[in-house]
Amino acid sequence: MSIADALRARIATEGPISVADYMGAANAAYYASRDPLGAAGDFVTAPEISQMFGELIGLWLADLWLRAGKPGGVHYAELGPGRGTLAADALRAMRGIGLQPPVELVETSPALRDEQLSRIAAARWHDDVDGLPTQGPLLIVANEFFDALPVHQFVREDDGWRELVVATEGEGFRRESGPAATEALPHAETGAIVERSPASAGIAAKLARRLAAHGGAALFIDYGHERRGIGDTLQAVSNHGYADPWEAPGTRDLTAHVDFEALHDAARAEGVRVYGAIGQGAFLRAMGIDLRAAQLAKAAPERTEEIVAARERLAAPEQMGRLFKVMALVAPRWPEPEGF
Ligand code: SAH
Repeated sequence: MSIADALRARIATEGPISVADYMGAANAAYYASRDPLGAAGDFVTAPEISQMFGELIGLWLADLWLRAGKPGGVHYAELGPGRGTLAADALRAMRGIGLQPPVELVETSPALRDEQLSRIAAARWHDDVDGLPTQGPLLIVANEFFDALPVHQFVREDDGWRELVVATEGEGFRRESGPAATEALPHAETGAIVERSPASAGIAAKLARRLAAHGGAALFIDYGHERRGIGDTLQAVSNHGYADPWEAPGTRDLTAHVDFEALHDAARAEGVRVYGAIGQGAFLRAMGIDLRAAQLAKAAPERTEEIVAARERLAAPEQMGRLFKVMALVAPRWPEPEGF
């Protein structure tokens, strides 16, 4: 049975389902069945653009670890590692500084686990963050992970807030107003939509608690807002373009802007220090992307144009530099991070 059929059957018995339930089921099916990354897939992510991205993240982590006094028992943990490209680049950069941690990958997709296995010799896989090791500092990375997690949507109507739900319409799906919700954003006008991702906030809180207890740091990179706002940001991406989220669930990537304010609040409440979110461009420039690009171009002059283009794509404000944001969580008693 396709995921569309499964969702139709569920709606027929239960009635309309939340946007979050629809998004969660659609994305689980989407990622389980394919490698969506790269030119031949649906979208391209920063680590697939250039090795510089993963390398600078590896350096950021290794630098903190060095200045924390090289604590033992440290693990590298990545959430939603895609093809494993970022992890491979980060681990190589870390190795250059004398850090070779065991690798823990949180990944639900069997197709992507295979890709990761081909690039990372030794790793352990986990279905969710609860499987991460419970002892020792963690160096955590999540790039374009939180944007794939389910969001609930609420709409302001004349008589108050309602949750938006997904119903069937003929062979397809449509979104409509559902039950009254206590959700409230002050001063919102009729028609305003707000999004909340308890799944994302819950993961940020768990990671923060883990860091506060045993040390380490996390870097979250994603596109989204520094401040919580109004807006329907849920979108479907297929074949490098926008598609209808309410059509053909499981065949296209559903994403929503990440609410960095919610991640910040969830993490702070667990006792870690939070930095950012700042623009990806500002972070990469502070971490030395210009120098790294120059080094790579010097080593391979025939590739200069490609290297410069990749640097611009990652860091220029009108490309990924501003829309994408970087947020860091740092354990108590660990040093101030670079780049913020
Ligand atoms: N970080 C990679 C891939 C981003 S795509 C990159 O930058 O290229 C999103 C990743 O998150 C995929 O690996 C996908 O399989 C994984 N993912 C999505 N939802 C997940 C979930 N609920 N639990 C664990 N992994 C998930």
